[in-house]
Amino acid sequence: MNYTVHQIAEIANAHVIGDGKLLIKNIAFDSRIIYSTKNTAFIAINTHKNSGEKFIEAAIDRGIQVIISENHYPNYENITWIITENAVVFLQKLAKYHFENAYIKSIGITGSNGKTILKEWLYQCLWNEFTTVKSPKSFNSQIGLPLSLLQINDSHELGIFEVGISKPDEMEKQENIFHPQIGLLTHIGTAHLANFTFEEQLVDEKIKLFRNSKVIIYNGDNILVDSKIKELYSTKRLITYGFKEHNDVHFKNNLSREEDVVVQYFNEQISFPVNQRDEATLINALALLTVLKELEISNDKIIEKINALKAVEMRLEAIEGIKNNIVINDSFNLDLDSLKTALQFLNEYNKPKKSLVLTDIVGVNSNSRELYEEVSELVNEQRFDSVFLIGNEISNYSELFKSKTSTYINTRELIDSKHLTEIENQIILLKGARKFEIEKLKDILELRKHDTVLEINLNAILHNINYHKSLLKPATKMMAMVKANAYGLGSYEISEFLQHHHIDYLGVAFVDEGVELRKKGITVPIVVMNPEQHSYDTVIAYNLEPEIYSLRVLEQFYEAVKKSGYDKKYPIHIKLETGMHRLGFKDSELDELSRTLAEKNLKVQSIFSHLSSSDLPSEKEFTLHQLNTFERNSNYLIENLGYTPIRHILNSSGITNYTDHQYDMVRIGIGMLGESQNSEINKQLRSVVSFKTVISQISIVGDGESVGYSRRFKTDHPTKIATIPVGYADGIPRLIGNQVGNVGIHKTLAPIVGNICMDMMMINVDHISNVKEGDTVTVFNAKPTLKEFADYCKTITYEVLTSISPRVKRIYVKD
Ligand SMILES: *Cc1c(COP(=O)(O)O)cnc(C)c1O
Repeated sequence: MNYTVHQIAEIANAHVIGDGKLLIKNIAFDSRIIYSTKNTAFIAINTHKNSGEKFIEAAIDRGIQVIISENHYPNYENITWIITENAVVFLQKLAKYHFENAYIKSIGITGSNGKTILKEWLYQCLWNEFTTVKSPKSFNSQIGLPLSLLQINDSHELGIFEVGISKPDEMEKQENIFHPQIGLLTHIGTAHLANFTFEEQLVDEKIKLFRNSKVIIYNGDNILVDSKIKELYSTKRLITYGFKEHNDVHFKNNLSREEDVVVQYFNEQISFPVNQRDEATLINALALLTVLKELEISNDKIIEKINALKAVEMRLEAIEGIKNNIVINDSFNLDLDSLKTALQFLNEYNKPKKSLVLTDIVGVNSNSRELYEEVSELVNEQRFDSVFLIGNEISNYSELFKSKTSTYINTRELIDSKHLTEIENQIILLKGARKFEIEKLKDILELRKHDTVLEINLNAILHNINYHKSLLKPATKMMAMVKANAYGLGSYEISEFLQHHHIDYLGVAFVDEGVELRKKGITVPIVVMNPEQHSYDTVIAYNLEPEIYSLRVLEQFYEAVKKSGYDKKYPIHIKLETGMHRLGFKDSELDELSRTLAEKNLKVQSIFSHLSSSDLPSEKEFTLHQLNTFERNSNYLIENLGYTPIRHILNSSGITNYTDHQYDMVRIGIGMLGESQNSEINKQLRSVVSFKTVISQISIVGDGESVGYSRRFKTDHPTKIATIPVGYADGIPRLIGNQVGNVGIHKTLAPIVGNICMDMMMINVDHISNVKEGDTVTVFNAKPTLKEFADYCKTITYEVLTSISPRVKRIYVKD
């Protein structure tokens, strides 16, 4: 959006106290997640639980100048107020006007389950076809929907929005604000049935969203839904999908086999691979395909997009298990609310039998009998086949559970009992408090699909960030460097996680990397360290902030800003040269830089430099010299600027070795991944990445035989050799073959023998007893560690990580 305060007040029937000419582009409703205060108004929403007005002060502290509120607080200076009778109605009016005046294609998704997943999937498939805007997370309520709609701006071509209702009559209001051209109705279940008398009432209510739609795509397996829609909307284009054959779009082949699925789409057949075969994934895939066809995406592209789809990061993870089970893993935390959500999630699956693993609820001080009575009621409703209780406390109340119930003191005891691995054809929910480590159960129950993976532990990243933060003053900001695909780990996944955990800034190397993040919905300020000349327009279009390192770049970038019509001070970051001799302004250029900046409508958001040797104790003197130069030159610039930008110079090892020089912000990189040159610090950090594969084959190679290309390894006795499916095309340097490098098997190092091949290599496992095909092999971390592996390669950990080929599947875990 892009309105003046005055326009907003007029649209939404409110009145202004203050400057009506200010421009508003964003509305923030949570004072904790205000990323940019520029052109942002804060809306104080009062709900029956909470008064948003309590947070006005925090918003103003963060630099917000415009407040939308039901009450006026005159004690703040220089604040513009938009005063409304009802903040929620205000939002809805504004969103309605904004949506009706935005000329975009729109998709509205409603239903009981699967809305958020489908929205995210559609977005991942469509963002590079259309400039797309979507609801953030599952913003679909009376407040969430308007906030989502207000994100639409002139550049958008397509909007994908979720619409949810929790009470009768809400859909009418939602449809009044948002009338999607394409309506998508997912599965209707009993998720919110409590507030509705009959399923029929719920269906009637949901389908009101489509009153003005041209096309309605819906799950036709539900007969009630099918007949209601056909009756009410006979003149619209209706497309049904589902498992039953009468649907326009349905599966053609036997889904239980390992082959590609074949979908009948009207008269056409389309086949593609789907790894996860649980019912919810399959039905969502049908809906996805139907919408993509409706948007005239070609079959080839659809298949490519479905292949590339990454499972949306959800707290609840559905995994294909051994013995035809589905395992729902929610070992992240346990409280009543998350238990409810998880139990609801189970209903998306149509497996007749189910089991539950549940642990003590920890950290609750209330009366434990009452707590477990409530827990058992929730659980009993679900009629589990068997319930496994872990922990002393919950075990005391086992008599409250009606299913076949067994108790264990800890997770180990359950594993040893082997009761879990006897289960067949069920859906198994693992729900436990963190300390019980029930993810170990997941490892046992999971059917492994990918042999070679780079496993990234997100919680370990958070731990490492918090460790570095603990060394700093609370007010010091942190920029996370996510350049080069976040050091090879996956730039979007890592950035999304960091954004969720309130990182202040992200840093990328090139503009493309920043654009990718923006397109996928990252809203945190992003600094581009090396903005190339041809990309300045893109920098501006995507609201990225450039590093300016020379007068040439400054002039050229400013030209681009003027040309773009951007009428505010554009944020830039000035890089000073202090000894690295890579990029930056030198001492002799500071006068001219100050003069040039004074003439230009730019805002120096930060001044920074980079240390070349903060990890090397032997270069302490040099580093102090760099720090000195930075202090002197940044002070000089600030004097001339007349205002004080953020200053920063420390990278990860700078944070640990030169903490006193933290200024206002630090830039963390490798430290976030748990690597430090300092072994004492290393002990405090957690390792984040592990590169694993499994043994494809084991052979006994006879005495005097050779192994691999060019016969570089010859045995001198019959030798047990294992072949593993990773090679130099995966990023293992060929130079660590021939017994230079080792991998880990059963916590023992085993040398790589012979030349490394493109996709495979051979390992001497003669000294490892009871090793067998299918066993896990650690390329790194643990044994050998990433550092040791980098040593084999005669390089640094940074190069190892950024060299791992994109074909190695990255998987993200939270422990
Ligand atoms: C990569 C980078 C960092 C992070 O360095 P680490 O050694 O990984 O902490 C910090 N600042 C700049 C300018 C960088 O390019």
